[in-house]
Amino acid sequence: MIAAALARLQREGVAVLAAAPVFETKPVGPSLRRYANSAAVIETALDPPALLTLLKRIERDFGRRTGGQRWTSRVLDLDIVLWSGGPFVGPGLTVPHPLFRTRAFVLAPAVAIAPHWRDPITGFTVRQLHARLTRLHALRR
Ligand code: AMP
Repeated sequence: MIAAALARLQREGVAVLAAAPVFETKPVGPSLRRYANSAAVIETALDPPALLTLLKRIERDFGRRTGGQRWTSRVLDLDIVLWSGGPFVGPGLTVPHPLFRTRAFVLAPAVAIAPHWRDPITGFTVRQLHARLTRLHALRR
């Protein structure tokens, strides 16, 4: 599914510069399904809102139901995690993604392809954010 989504992005004119391995993760929330997560570095002339519109169209085409329960099982979820243009806030869109700093399923694949990318809000790199998260987990045990 992830490979198909990346191929679709490329057919839409988005260059996929790097693709992370696929990580299998347990769902956040009540869903029973396990998830496959990955990350990609892409290059596009689209600005963040136009890119999000494209991502939502691809999600819809892959069978995701919109307007339903937030945490129900879905086929494909595409998010914008970081952008080279720095922070972006618009209607229904915040970049960096507001939750990416606490999500290992985002940071682990991101470390594989963009470890040195710096979060413009906290100043931490992707690798530092991921390390911080794993340290927190270790302390909780
Ligand atoms: P979710 O179902 O958790 O993927 O949330 C999708 C919704 O979050 C979208 O309809 C967007 O309007 C909103 N959103 C806010 N920031 C982002 C982002 N950086 N990437 C993707 N969706 C975002």
